[in-house]
Amino acid sequence: MTAGFIREELEALKRAALYRRLRLIEGEQGPTVILDGREVVNFSSNNYLGIANHPALREAAKQAIDRYGCGSGASRLISGNMELHEELERRIAALKGTEAALVFNSGFQANTGIIPTLVGRGDTVFSDSLNHASIIDGCRLSRAQVIVYEHCDADGLERKLRDAPAGGRKLIVTESLFSMDGDEAPLVALVDLAEKYGALLMVDEAHATGVFEPNGAGIIAKLGLTKRVPVQMGTLGKALGGFGAYVAGDSALRELLINRCRSFIFTTSLPPAVLAMAIAALELVRKEPERRQALWTNCLRLRDRLLQLGYSLGRSSSQILPVIVGDSRACIDLSERLLERGIFAQGIRPPTVPPGTSRLRLTVMATHTPEHVDRALSAFEELKKVEDGG
Ligand code: PMP
Repeated sequence: MTAGFIREELEALKRAALYRRLRLIEGEQGPTVILDGREVVNFSSNNYLGIANHPALREAAKQAIDRYGCGSGASRLISGNMELHEELERRIAALKGTEAALVFNSGFQANTGIIPTLVGRGDTVFSDSLNHASIIDGCRLSRAQVIVYEHCDADGLERKLRDAPAGGRKLIVTESLFSMDGDEAPLVALVDLAEKYGALLMVDEAHATGVFEPNGAGIIAKLGLTKRVPVQMGTLGKALGGFGAYVAGDSALRELLINRCRSFIFTTSLPPAVLAMAIAALELVRKEPERRQALWTNCLRLRDRLLQLGYSLGRSSSQILPVIVGDSRACIDLSERLLERGIFAQGIRPPTVPPGTSRLRLTVMATHTPEHVDRALSAFEELKKVEDGG
């Protein structure tokens, strides 16, 4: 029998318009999907380059299964370290321009493992107020003192660094492209501060890897900061269309994580098919820059017209376009009305975003056609007219 509090919690979530339910996607992850039995245009996926269903990834996975079988059988340090793990790591390091890389089973595991490896009791972590849940949990698990600074506020961070307790290690951690707001961290300033105050800098490129030039390497590379960001993490399940995550940096960082990072050590390693997909995805990212161009063309088209229609997109400068609604109920409502018009734009509510900032998180894909984008825009235009009483 279900303990009473479980039902009570669920009822409370429903009353606050914070209840979540799983939606079912049938078939492939394309620019359109079959959602709960209906075809809709998908503006809710992190499959930014549209390669999650690409023939090259499928073929690579099949061949890996034929050659290596299905499971890896153990953690990396026992008997689960296979050729493909190391090949993928070499290729990630080459893309990122770092000495080494280490693959993780997911971004969530990476962040919750890396941070406690780098800092502990007596140390201090400085964390952007809009960092992802996995970074927040990594900070908590570390037992270091956590100092949260205002989103993207380098001056505020400097004040906190100046006032921080003396002694112990310092770690600054930020996303490069924020997952729910689509805006960029002030990385140049953060690198300067890290160097000035002797702090280690860790940057999460989950939403930037595969997307930003040069060659899809991400925002750190775009800004020419590769040599000045010692801990770069990112995921393989978003623009790269597969699953998993990595950290890139120098070989000593890799070795320390292999020796100390609990979420790396105590888990079965990624299976061959997943590794092979990621390798194939990196090849596509390198060979097909036109995917990134198509993504940006779609992005600009959607962004400019939404702004013209009077929607607020916050500080977004990327493929992630947050249509800020504020109230959770109004947000779900807008999402449902778009869905009725064949547009899938998931509402994002607290605790994923701060209270009062519920939003539709529209994400653009390289494989959206101009018609897909226009269909979304017509739906938004129609709903705006209704909202304005027109
Ligand atoms: N970091 C950020 C910024 C993310 O947005 C996410 C996923 N939403 C993660 C880490 C976790 O990555 P994964 O999905 O591979 O667990």
